[in-house]
Amino acid sequence: MIKPNMNYADLKDSYLFYNIAQKTKAYIEEHPGANLHRLGIGDVSLPLCDEVIKALHEAVDEQASAENFHGYMPECGAPFLRETIAKHYEKFGVSLSPDEVFVSSGASDELGDILDLFDRDGSTLVIEPAYPAYVDANIIEGRRILHLPSSEKDGFLPGPSADFVADLIYICSPNNPTGAVYDRPALKRWVDFAKEHGSLIIFDAAYEAFIEDESLPHSIFEIEGARSCAIEICSLSKTAGFTGTRLGYTVIPKDLSYCGMNLNDMWVRNRTTKTNGISYILQKGGAAVFTEEGQRQIKKNISFYKENAKIIMKALDEVGIWYTGGKNAPYIWLKCPDNMGSWEFFDYLLNEIQVVGTPGEGFGACGEGFFRFSTFGSREDTEKAAALIVDLLK
Ligand code: PLP
Repeated sequence: MIKPNMNYADLKDSYLFYNIAQKTKAYIEEHPGANLHRLGIGDVSLPLCDEVIKALHEAVDEQASAENFHGYMPECGAPFLRETIAKHYEKFGVSLSPDEVFVSSGASDELGDILDLFDRDGSTLVIEPAYPAYVDANIIEGRRILHLPSSEKDGFLPGPSADFVADLIYICSPNNPTGAVYDRPALKRWVDFAKEHGSLIIFDAAYEAFIEDESLPHSIFEIEGARSCAIEICSLSKTAGFTGTRLGYTVIPKDLSYCGMNLNDMWVRNRTTKTNGISYILQKGGAAVFTEEGQRQIKKNISFYKENAKIIMKALDEVGIWYTGGKNAPYIWLKCPDNMGSWEFFDYLLNEIQVVGTPGEGFGACGEGFFRFSTFGSREDTEKAAALIVDLLK
């Protein structure tokens, strides 16, 4: 009889968003007509920008004519998009060759799929609180997981520790859920640590486009030595509203080798075996993000979310609540007032002012007592929620 992957039995129920949905549903049933103010969503609310829409339409039309039709695309990405993304990295002072860039259908897919490159008997370090997919993807593979907690004391940006040495290290900066961002010296410590221990960093840069402080790094490859110990996974989901359209990219340096095996060559082999490339239409839409006009338009959308962040941060400042994030990230991570637990605060906000956020405990045990607000909501909801928070907590 076929034996299934028994590691699935070790997955904990992903109760976070399920519980939030259940609790809000119950509230609405008990209070028909109640108007909820949603600061919990991790999805974007603004549509794709015009430049992308125009490129998508043009690509669709190309598919309608025999002369311009595109069939299977190269598995690792269309050369035009790989070149465009490599060029984009020049803005960060990072020099990449196009064949170091792999076009993907999003960061979530890659964060799990990339594990194909590594021995399943290895270990993985997850800095918590964390995006839940890191833990689950590694449980499915049967890897040993080390959970490195972070706290208000280290600004939710812990450094490496000799007690937490692992083969793979996930670093997410700007971070979901905390919105905290590693600066260059702090990232350098992680790079040095990875090199010292023969570890590999999987750098999740999904929120890099939200960085506004010029001194902060957008890419791990801005850090000296990273080319020999890191992979970067990025996405257009939050950068350009591609959550439903699906497009991302992964950078694997050509010179990245462990035990005589070259990871870039291995990933080419993996992609050519397991995928048939990303749709031509989407790749044309993705390339439009990187034109001058595309960049101007996506920045406008990002500023809209930044304005939401300012509105929430002002409210928290007014009521004296500690928080991190918001400035260089679309998330604000706050300490629940009066020593409330995360779910207790969730219920309190829902019942008293109909504001829905995300309890920090859902991102790892050390998130207990903290709470995440997202800035991806509508302006109306954000303004209303901020005013209600001030009235409730001042
Ligand atoms: N990484 C982080 C930290 C995220 O928060 C998300 C989505 O919320 C992703 C990756 C997934 O992005 P994608 O939509 O490209 O799969």
